[in-house]
Amino acid sequence: SGSTAPNTRIDGTGLVLAPGFIDVHSHDDTAVLAEPDHACKTLQGVTSVVVGNCGMSAAPASAHTPGVTVYDRVADYLAAVGEHRPAVNVGTLVGHGAIRAAVMGLRTDRQPDTAERSAMADHVARALEDGALGLSSGLAYEPGRYARADELVELNRPVAEAGGLYATHMRDEGDQLLSSIDESIEVAERTGVPLQISHLKASGRNNWGTAGRALARIDRARERGVDVMADQYPYTRGSSLLEQIVSGGALDGPSPFGQVTPADVLVAAAPGHPRGEGRTEAEIWAAEGVEAREMADRIVEAERRRCIVVIDNMAEDDVRTIMGHEAVMVGSDGVPGGARPHPRLHHTYPRVLGHYVRGQGLLDLPDAIRRMTSAPARRFGFADRGEIRPGAYADLVLFDPERIIDTGTYAEPTSGRQVRPG
Ligand code: ZN
Repeated sequence: SGSTAPNTRIDGTGLVLAPGFIDVHSHDDTAVLAEPDHACKTLQGVTSVVVGNCGMSAAPASAHTPGVTVYDRVADYLAAVGEHRPAVNVGTLVGHGAIRAAVMGLRTDRQPDTAERSAMADHVARALEDGALGLSSGLAYEPGRYARADELVELNRPVAEAGGLYATHMRDEGDQLLSSIDESIEVAERTGVPLQISHLKASGRNNWGTAGRALARIDRARERGVDVMADQYPYTRGSSLLEQIVSGGALDGPSPFGQVTPADVLVAAAPGHPRGEGRTEAEIWAAEGVEAREMADRIVEAERRRCIVVIDNMAEDDVRTIMGHEAVMVGSDGVPGGARPHPRLHHTYPRVLGHYVRGQGLLDLPDAIRRMTSAPARRFGFADRGEIRPGAYADLVLFDPERIIDTGTYAEPTSGRQVRPG
């Protein structure tokens, strides 16, 4: 921890010393500025975070992320990070959604014209110049869902040339999971850009059991030389915007989330409806005497993009199958904010190490640590991080492999959070 005084001797007998964990999939863009001690991550051993995921980034400025401080350029954002000196290292992707919203607006359902294509390409070039690690997309969200593969190919060419990577929250993680993987691979194959599939999962009860087929698609691409990897958070529940669930049609039938019932949707944050926080859509429906879909519509209407929900949408077998794949690393996908954030925000790394490594033996300890440290560092180009050796940065974490465990639940997601350091 940054609070340790110089020349302090720490007795690590019986403990494991590992490189600091690198959270490859965070949404900490403004949280690292607002709370520079960033205890939600440092207390689980994370020393570096990648932000700008799912097409959403703090730069370029657009109407894409209301309520979030935005910057004209990635350089301005990184300068703000430098001023706030957060306790974690921060690397950012530039969001395709932010770029498309800046150039074409948030809800423009058409393909870009020549001028718009060139304006978006300029944004990508400037971001890479400023030090962006690559491009991210959120193709289930607005405005990413209006973009076709050709647009993503065009914007990823300069990313490939600059040695960056393309991280994608795919168009569909449910009923169209396999074709979405194909689309992502197509972008990588046509541009040569390394592809990082974000928070890989098989979403929706009707799609449980498809993780193996999804991984087979990835394996086939890797065998023919396409550079495809993925990341995952270690839970069977996901989290998203209620607006996204409703507009995607998940309560009505097939959707990017697969089929979800009102009982599967737990309200995590609803600033204007605090009584709804911690309750499922089904419970709110029963208590208010309103039909579930109508209730969801009302909340979305009032809260817009501020209502965050936790969705019970994955099978444990699929989570385990994905976790065991050699090309999968750990990323929290934690979303800071709200009364009951998904526990992945505070507990992802202890959960992998305590539950899946020690408890279930799904991964051995060195392999799990590799997926949290050296693999992410190599993937995102963090030189001299993710390893313990002379000349490398001393980002280190010390933990007890016999006792480490996640203590947060969906009801009490921040419990076990210790006193903040320093
Ligand atoms: Zn995402």
